[in-house]
Amino acid sequence: MATELALYADAARRGAAYLEGVSGRRVFPDQQGLDGLRAFDEGLPAFGLSPESTLALLDESGSPATVATNGPRYFGFVVGAALPAAAAAERLMLAWDQGAALHVASPVSARIEAVASSWLLEVLDLPRSSAVGFGTSSTACGLTCLAAARRSVLLKAGFDLDVLGIAQCPEVKVVVSEKVHVTVLKALRILGFGRSQLLIAPVDGEGRIDLDRLPPLDATTILCLQAGEVNTGEFDPFGPLIARAREAGAWVHVDGAFGLWARASATRRALTEGIDLADSWTVDGHKWLNTPYDCAMAICRDPEALAGAMNSDAAYAVGSADAQKNLTLEFSRRARGIPVWAVLRSLGTVGVAELVDRHCRQALRLAGGLRAAGFEVVNRVVLNQLVVRAADDAQTNAVRIAAERSGELWFGSTSWNGRAAFRLSVSSWRTTDGDIERAIELLAKLLGELHSHHTAV
Ligand SMILES: *Cc1c(COP(=O)(O)O)cnc(C)c1O
Repeated sequence: MATELALYADAARRGAAYLEGVSGRRVFPDQQGLDGLRAFDEGLPAFGLSPESTLALLDESGSPATVATNGPRYFGFVVGAALPAAAAAERLMLAWDQGAALHVASPVSARIEAVASSWLLEVLDLPRSSAVGFGTSSTACGLTCLAAARRSVLLKAGFDLDVLGIAQCPEVKVVVSEKVHVTVLKALRILGFGRSQLLIAPVDGEGRIDLDRLPPLDATTILCLQAGEVNTGEFDPFGPLIARAREAGAWVHVDGAFGLWARASATRRALTEGIDLADSWTVDGHKWLNTPYDCAMAICRDPEALAGAMNSDAAYAVGSADAQKNLTLEFSRRARGIPVWAVLRSLGTVGVAELVDRHCRQALRLAGGLRAAGFEVVNRVVLNQLVVRAADDAQTNAVRIAAERSGELWFGSTSWNGRAAFRLSVSSWRTTDGDIERAIELLAKLLGELHSHHTAV
């Protein structure tokens, strides 16, 4: 016991030391840090090595090769840092080591996840009787929602997919945006919807589904919409699209991996107008809510639709319809609702709104600063996402690579309307206004150096 506790104390000490330096460390590791990963090239030991040396190796050779995604100047993908309340709750959860499948396996998890479900529906203002499955990612939660959608659409048409299976299955049509996220396509592929079967809804200049060119819908259609396009952060026009879907009797699923949090903010809520009339929604905790990984939610208006699709009751493990194992892909699972509960409890509805508003305001400041420095900001910046270009693809890529090398910040590349661009996402609770100014100054300097270099040669 003494050595076990000493080991955890050592892990806590090392973790604290890492966090103490996380705002100052290089964002992407340097070559020395990457080279240090060779320390892990060991053979599988026949006789176990000590836990102490295992932890020491992980820290001494692993920590230097981390990307500082838990720091303030990581603007890549849509990656939030971990809020202390949630990160601390996870540490205690690890000590509990609960397999949070159903009440008898972990009463505490079942209770807190029920509270987290109802708080989540309240902060997002979605139908309060919806079911919430706490899963690992929007990918997995999207898969569960789309499985529920397919099963429900077929049941309505008189076909019991659970009994009869996919071979005799009547056609289910799926409409996706031209800008659909790749993980929705992955979920559809897993469910047996081939690429050539999908009906593509064209988008307008901002990347939102164009209502006038929406493919026809009927009662056997699943319409996939999105809140927060991954590059621009734009929202499909939910009100009119969902009205049309309801008229046709189609199922509407919304991928709101990060964008659904706009609903928690008074200033951004209008972007989500009408979204509460959809049938299912996915949203991540680990992106904009700043929970640790892996944390996301599948929300389904009809609780029985999700519970029917995800049921895993067995003679030895009968759970209620709202047991998490009957709402998610997993059977054995971590109580992923606990970090959500911890964030919502520690921020409150006001704090969540402030987090969203602050990042939107910082994104606008970043856009203004970059425009003034000579960059082109391609999107309207309605949320926390920027798509940015320099004069041409070569310059755009050169600035991005130089920024990464500087170690000061990190962001990824994308292509928008056939041209190279970079994407910046402001999603971390640690990002201060000073970090935004530092990012503007650095990018302005790098662009300036590129220009003076060009004139010199
Ligand atoms: C990140 C993202 C996803 C996938 O979420 P994961 O939690 O990474 O699986 C889906 N849709 C959008 C719009 C995203 O940004």
